[in-house]
Amino acid sequence: MINITIDGHSGSGKSSTAKKVAAALDYTYIDTGAMYRAITLLVGRHKINPENLEALKALLDETAIKFQKMQDGSKHLFVNGEDVEMDIRTQEVADQVSEISRIPLVREHLVMWQREMAKGKGVVMEGRDAGTVILPEADLKVFMTADLQERARRRYEQMSEKGIPADLDEITANLSHRDKLDSTRDIAPLKKADGAVEVDTTHMSFEDQVDAIVTLAKQKMALTR
Ligand code: C5P
Repeated sequence: MINITIDGHSGSGKSSTAKKVAAALDYTYIDTGAMYRAITLLVGRHKINPENLEALKALLDETAIKFQKMQDGSKHLFVNGEDVEMDIRTQEVADQVSEISRIPLVREHLVMWQREMAKGKGVVMEGRDAGTVILPEADLKVFMTADLQERARRRYEQMSEKGIPADLDEITANLSHRDKLDSTRDIAPLKKADGAVEVDTTHMSFEDQVDAIVTLAKQKMALTR
């Protein structure tokens, strides 16, 4: 079994691709962005000032995050036993998450949990720093990109399908803002990891994205055997 990391811009198709690749290989899929969203949701709910590091630490210490397989085969994020899968996907959380994810204390905790989740398993770890920070020794590292307009269009469709109210202009602005914050932050900025393969999905179908990465994974598996 090998470790695969998939990083890239918001809306580049990472999540759906990573999920499908994990299913195709029978690997564990870990959505690291969902974890940052969950902490953001809790910070909002408890009305914690993100500058109050003591309160943030207390929150992190009392939070247990896990991904649980649902009856339909999908995975939902549970926080202290509560299914928050819908709540973490709102625009409100999307608007706040980059602010929370740039806090070193939050990153340290989440990276620790993420490494723990990957131990001894074949995983597809997806996010912004999976290949650069969480699992720099991963056997296959992928960096996914796509044009901003195309990414916004995909995110709009994804939200509409889930019945979440969506506005294309708002999504475009949010993605662009998050790209900037995620790429320019001091700690674990979004960037292509050393040795990562870049996949530009602007003109690729979903099936082609999945096939391309599964093929790369099988080549790596053959080499590590
Ligand atoms: O992947 P997703 O868009 O759900 O991620 C939400 C946000 O979480 C990103 O915009 C980024 O600020 C943060 N994030 C991060 N590091 C990761 C994954 C996500 O900082 N590994």
